[in-house]
Amino acid sequence: NGPLLKVENLTKHYPLGSGIFKKSIPVIRAVEDVSFSVEAGETLCIVGESGCGKSTVARLLMRLVEPTAGRVLIDGTDIAGLKKDALHAWRRRMQMVFQDPYSSLNPRLTAAQIITEPVENFERLGRNQRQALAADLLRKVGMSPEMTHRLPSELSGGQRQRLGIARALSLNPSLIIADEAVSALDVSVQAQILNLLLDLQQQMGIAFVFISHDLGVVEHIGHRVAVMYLGRIVELAPCEALFAKPVHPYTEALLAAAPVPDPTRIRLQVPVDGEMPSPINPPNGCAFHPRCPLAVERCRIEVPPLVPMADGRIVACHVRAPATELSAPPIANRA
Ligand code: SF4
Ligand code: MG
Repeated sequence: NGPLLKVENLTKHYPLGSGIFKKSIPVIRAVEDVSFSVEAGETLCIVGESGCGKSTVARLLMRLVEPTAGRVLIDGTDIAGLKKDALHAWRRRMQMVFQDPYSSLNPRLTAAQIITEPVENFERLGRNQRQALAADLLRKVGMSPEMTHRLPSELSGGQRQRLGIARALSLNPSLIIADEAVSALDVSVQAQILNLLLDLQQQMGIAFVFISHDLGVVEHIGHRVAVMYLGRIVELAPCEALFAKPVHPYTEALLAAAPVPDPTRIRLQVPVDGEMPSPINPPNGCAFHPRCPLAVERCRIEVPPLVPMADGRIVACHVRAPATELSAPPIANRA
């Protein structure tokens, strides 16, 4: 039985405005040919600088936006084709936790109402039922069940994020998409929330797609890591392997740029000279070539394919992962 989540050649282009001359409308190439899978109970992290397309991937997974091309499969079923009942069933299995719990929580609802709202989209709960479910979920996320009547404004940042997690848990999902879920929190609170997510994963077997710009967070929580640059995955590797030895020059630059005064806290900074180019008019060939110290002529012309390496990672780089006759075909074309 295949992976829980499978993403195939996912692509999202946003047209920039509309024009009389249709052909000349520029597009933002937010996500370009992204493929990966997530096993039940696994955490796949997606890491990259702001603007690399990682949040768009989250929105595509949640069907908040439609892909330009490519597919998202849950248990082998394409979510684009789901009709009413199947769509409901799928919505129960996949939930999202957002970066800013304050703006994503309705300020007029109590904790109990916020937490049970996803459930009440499916079934009407009586008052007692709602209170009991909310208290149970609050306990699961390490909060006092007495907090069911609190408003978001009466909670701390960490408590609000716990509330967002309790809400996501209410439908007993198989998969949670977390987009910068701890980025707005203080370091000590971040660690508590990450540990909570790890505990929940162990207890309930939940899989995570964990999107972050913060390498320290990723190292703490990830099983595998996909590094994105300008809409594409450039390296996807088991977490330990990636941190021990990055292969793609961009991954290497990210890790090298991360200051390590506090080893639990590696901040992603602009890693190398120059800025990330615009996704409106990305460079030809390898999009990283204007910033890459290893670039050769070919890099300016050909997009490097993702090539599987002997240690199980895949890397898109003409120099570090040359496609040879011995390599398997690029990952996107594999079954
Ligand atoms: Fe650098 Fe070329 Fe590899 Fe891109 S393909 S990362 S430009 S060496
Ligand atoms: Mg984002």
